[in-house]
Amino acid sequence: KDDRSGSGSARVFEPELRAKLKQRREMELDLKAALDAEQFELYYQPFVNMADKRVSGFEALLRWQHPEKGMIPPNDFIPLAEEAGLIERLGVWCLEAACTEAVSWPDQMVVSVNLSPLQFKSPTLLDDIDGALRRSGLAANRLQIEVTESLFIDESDSVLQILNQFRSRGLTVSMDDFGTGYSSLGYLSRFPFDKIKIDQSFIRNMARQENIAIVRAVIGLSKALDMQVIAEGIETREQMEALFAEGCRDMQGYFFSRPQPKSELAQIIAEITRRWSDDLEMPGPET
Ligand code: C2E
Ligand code: MG
Ligand code: MG
Ligand code: MG
Repeated sequence: KDDRSGSGSARVFEPELRAKLKQRREMELDLKAALDAEQFELYYQPFVNMADKRVSGFEALLRWQHPEKGMIPPNDFIPLAEEAGLIERLGVWCLEAACTEAVSWPDQMVVSVNLSPLQFKSPTLLDDIDGALRRSGLAANRLQIEVTESLFIDESDSVLQILNQFRSRGLTVSMDDFGTGYSSLGYLSRFPFDKIKIDQSFIRNMARQENIAIVRAVIGLSKALDMQVIAEGIETREQMEALFAEGCRDMQGYFFSRPQPKSELAQIIAEITRRWSDDLEMPGPET
């Protein structure tokens, strides 16, 4: 259907649409240049284990420092990178940068890298991961991969094969944003996950009974399937305590720390360790 021939409203919105398309094309060109100009940076947000009150690792979160537009968040440019065919290169850059950074972290802390479903279509994904591990010297069991349920929209043997390859290398595989995407639970039994991340939307409104019920069910599911569970998006002490009461020990969110550049990580580890070892209201290390 030709939308220019129809209603007047299409004509009204056309200039706006054209401006949007133009803006998007410019962003795509900027993105291409940004990889060469090293305008990307990984920020890191800690995983806190409230059983032993320590930082157990960090999630790598991509940032684009645009020369004119300033810091652009990933939700604004990753879909674009996917459409423009740039996600593969960007993904490789993230893997290399994250592994190189994590190798110097204390106590065998893990680094967690988000993968786009499109990266699973790349014939070099496994080689890229092996290369990042080899070049950095990071042990495979210190690299965690985060995927989302959208990976399973068109379920394929190749995805299963790749996840099994991850597993055989000793990587950890985490299901991100759990409960927000593809609405079948079948993949949980067919694919080898190590960890479920409860989505922040369920944490945000934990005061609501329905959300507590969902959180409780996800924690139960993870136990039944012998998977670890982590809650993301914790912003308040109340949320932290509610999750603790439900038996969740691994946590992530602004309440503990916002994502920060790598120069801040030693400070974050020290602060979190100090804050929680001094907090007598929370139970001490469990055995
Ligand atoms: P995600 O993997 O689910 O990451 C969690 C997002 O929630 C991050 O946003 C993080 O900064 C934010 N967050 C953490 N704690 C809190 C909290 O307590 N409250 C609130 N309101 N937000 C919190 P960010 O960094 O903007 O990333 C957004 C999404 O972009 C990520 O969601 C992930 O899907 C994607 N992403 C980020 N980095 C990469 C990457 O390197 N590769 C790919 N493919 N995707 C990435
Ligand atoms: Mg994630
Ligand atoms: Mg998430
Ligand atoms: Mg997300």
